Amino acid sequence: MAKKAASWSLACDRCGTRYPFGPLVHGCPACAEKGTIGVLEAEFRPAKKPQALDKRKGPLGLERYRDLLPGGDGKDWISLGEGGTALIPSRHIGPELGLRQLYFKNESVNPTWSFKDRFVCVSINVAKSCGFRRIVVASTGNLGISVAAYAAAAGMECMFVAPRGTSATILEEARRYGVRVIVTSAERRLPVLEDIVRTGAWFPIGLFLRRAVQNPFGIEGYKTFGYEMIEQLGRAPGAVLFPCARGNGLYGAYKGFKEALANGWSDSMPALIGCQPAGANSLEVSIERGSEDAVELPRVSTLAASATETVSSDHALRAIRESRGTAASVTDAELLEATYKLLREGLSIEPSSALPVACLKTLMKRRALPADAPVVCVLTATGLRWPVETPKSVPPVIEVGDNEPVERYLK
Ligand SMILES: [Zn+2]
Repeated sequence: MAKKAASWSLACDRCGTRYPFGPLVHGCPACAEKGTIGVLEAEFRPAKKPQALDKRKGPLGLERYRDLLPGGDGKDWISLGEGGTALIPSRHIGPELGLRQLYFKNESVNPTWSFKDRFVCVSINVAKSCGFRRIVVASTGNLGISVAAYAAAAGMECMFVAPRGTSATILEEARRYGVRVIVTSAERRLPVLEDIVRTGAWFPIGLFLRRAVQNPFGIEGYKTFGYEMIEQLGRAPGAVLFPCARGNGLYGAYKGFKEALANGWSDSMPALIGCQPAGANSLEVSIERGSEDAVELPRVSTLAASATETVSSDHALRAIRESRGTAASVTDAELLEATYKLLREGLSIEPSSALPVACLKTLMKRRALPADAPVVCVLTATGLRWPVETPKSVPPVIEVGDNEPVERYLK
């Protein structure tokens, strides 16, 4: 008898229709025919029980969990060493708040300095295994640069559609990888992406449906958040705080924790907590209103530029509810303060990534954090692409003249 092979498929969240695994980048075809939007989800049926997390070989990172991810199993898997990021105990913020087990998952040490590398690595490998040679992405920064880097490594052509106003630093960083950059208005961005994808030759890393949905392949890369935290702590944390625009990272991590629970690799599910900027807090508003679907809010602009969206994903909302988590939001001033506090921990990260730390105080007041279990703040990206003003409290630059002794400045 032939050996049973592991299989991947896609299933619609709304109508339940199943599809063979493939580049269904327009959502569920059956739902589309009825004029609705169905989000597809990748589903995995392993041939045999997967190996326990702590019995695996090699360092932490996506490669360690290859058998649990889609994207082909050949030797030509493209990796830049993503994942396996440090989990750092807080030395100042936690003790000051009375949180004894506060940790930071520092995603700025990924190959292109953000958590998007987990998402893009799997997406690119899926695109490649489906025979695509061209990749297109619409992004405001981190995602676009990550795609540019992985496309270069994979020898694929790449197009990056950015909104007008994107900083020159980001556009130049992307261009250095050899990608073609298109700049257009924020409104034209998704129609442009859609026109490119409709030619059939370009694989979109993000999706362009009217409602915010995620790329079902990349989400699988985010499952590794769950695996890694369990391995690093020897248990599942009590709570995990994510900065959320749509909440794909949060949802992917939830999926990873759920798999770990089902496979007996951990014995609890952490509370997943979505942290957003005030005004772009679709998750918090949806929970307050008891809404089944994520509520759409008017467009605002905040300091957390890469976490400011009008609507979050229904999946993220569901993950929060199913894990008995919650959502919170903060003002720009609170966010800036948290960004500065993280510098005191030795961590230079972008303001959006400071959302979890900024939300800690409110969450403690609401008694939403466990006192006797690890609490993990995921810091999603580097501070280099979105520099903040230098805090007034830091020492000024000292100008030493050519013949002037330096000793006078050492007191
Ligand atoms: Zn459907």
